[in-house]
Amino acid sequence: MGGVDSYDEQAISDDDAIVINFAHGDPTLYEKFWKDVGDEAKLVISGWETMSYFSNKDNMCWFLEQKFAEKVRRLHKLVGNASVDGKHVIVGTGSTQLFQAALFALSDPNSDHPTNVVTSIPYYPLYPALTNFMKSRLYQWGGDVENHRGKEGPCIEVVCSPNNPDGLSKQAVLTCENEKIIHDLTYYWPQYTAITTAADHDIMLFTLSKITGHAGIRIGWALVKDDKVARKMIKFIEMNTIGVSKDSQLRAARILSFVTNSHANPSLVRGVGGPFFHYARRTMTERWNRLRDAVQRSNGALTLTNFPSQHCNFTDDIVETHPAFAWMKCEKEGVDFQGVLKEHNIITLNGEHFGVENCYVRISMLDIDPYFDIFIKRISTIY
Ligand code: PMP
Repeated sequence: MGGVDSYDEQAISDDDAIVINFAHGDPTLYEKFWKDVGDEAKLVISGWETMSYFSNKDNMCWFLEQKFAEKVRRLHKLVGNASVDGKHVIVGTGSTQLFQAALFALSDPNSDHPTNVVTSIPYYPLYPALTNFMKSRLYQWGGDVENHRGKEGPCIEVVCSPNNPDGLSKQAVLTCENEKIIHDLTYYWPQYTAITTAADHDIMLFTLSKITGHAGIRIGWALVKDDKVARKMIKFIEMNTIGVSKDSQLRAARILSFVTNSHANPSLVRGVGGPFFHYARRTMTERWNRLRDAVQRSNGALTLTNFPSQHCNFTDDIVETHPAFAWMKCEKEGVDFQGVLKEHNIITLNGEHFGVENCYVRISMLDIDPYFDIFIKRISTIY
């Protein structure tokens, strides 16, 4: 139980010297739930198991564990956030690998110029970083999608919805004939936003990291319509890592299965805080209520994004949006907001990482309770 890298929450004291690093979105918030679940979500793998490179030589995605694919499809059917029928499931080492596989699959190897990869601002900082990292001749970072409206030449548009960092729902901006769009739906889950429709796009990326908090398993998946695109993405993963850890896929299958079962059979989670998404939504709601209260005490110096309440098909309820990150703005002119927070030992990322002004900072809402408590206390008294 617990694992060697688990936090000892009791040992974290409310000391001004403690540095709160909310610059990244490490989803340790969910650890508490899984500790309570205990052995019910445990998986034991014997020494002789999962030895072959192959999961199924006859399958196009030959490294995909069938059990994992089944649990993915079952979870999407339960939540209703994506249409899985007629789509390939491709597993990746995190959705980070799948993003790069999608860039490879969508760019034209015969083109004289690298394909521009564009998105709307503010954007997830890893999009430009990953796009330009290998200095590929296939694709390059093209920045803000608005600068590419009506322009000629091939483009790959990335649509992150709900968006990291600001939590807003997004739609594709470009409407070229040969649309090449990657939909990153990392945060399209009921704890963060209303599930309003079953997304049905050509390439949709998901990750276990932000659903259940198991970022360390490094498992993501893509739902892909087109055979040719799917084949190229699979080829990329073959060339990159010769497949994806089977142990991780089996463990992910076990975790996903528990999540789905927790909704089908609530007795499984009596004493644990309820079915997973209900627990997660309640936790995010509490956190956002506390953050909005704290921000209100700044008398307008600090503001947060406002979201409309919407009907969620999963909970059949009107729900608020509670993103994994808070996108906070300092309304005071000429203030180095990131610097002010740093003086209070709160580490964040400012707007320039996301292609916008530095009056904004992104704050993770997914850290463990003791750090979140300290953060709320500090942010309440900054202005
Ligand atoms: N896309 C977005 C928008 C993200 O926020 C993240 C995680 N920070 C990822 C992709 C990558 O997730 P992972 O590689 O852990 O699956």
